[in-house]
Amino acid sequence: MFAVRTKFVTKTEVVLRTVYTALEKGLAVIGPTQVAEELGVSKSTAQKMLNELSKAGYGVYVPKKGLVLNERGKMEARAAVRMHRLIECLLADLGVEDFCKEAEKIGMVAGSSLVDALEARYGDREFCPCGKRIPEVKK
Ligand SMILES: [Zn+2]
Repeated sequence: MFAVRTKFVTKTEVVLRTVYTALEKGLAVIGPTQVAEELGVSKSTAQKMLNELSKAGYGVYVPKKGLVLNERGKMEARAAVRMHRLIECLLADLGVEDFCKEAEKIGMVAGSSLVDALEARYGDREFCPCGKRIPEVKK
């Protein structure tokens, strides 16, 4: 898990999570417009982000359409989403009101021992506190 985490700069993880959320909704391709809206960045920044994911080997960027994740990309996206939702579980347990926003910040600095502890405590949960499914990640 730690190796998976450290490969990413923060932005990449956030973008991957956005792409994963689109996949959950049944979209196979995610375009810059959607990422721009989701993350509050400009369309050109969003396009750059998606291109970077494709260059990093997580999928194919189809011009004028968007990014299609490959198996590796899907795996990394699931790992990023899983981490976020496990942190949410912890924060909700602690009674933190704004657990999603806080989980976002903690996720950016979390290291392997926190990830391991979260897996030990919440690893068998199916849903995060907002009711979204926590994706499985094959080890
Ligand atoms: Zn959640």
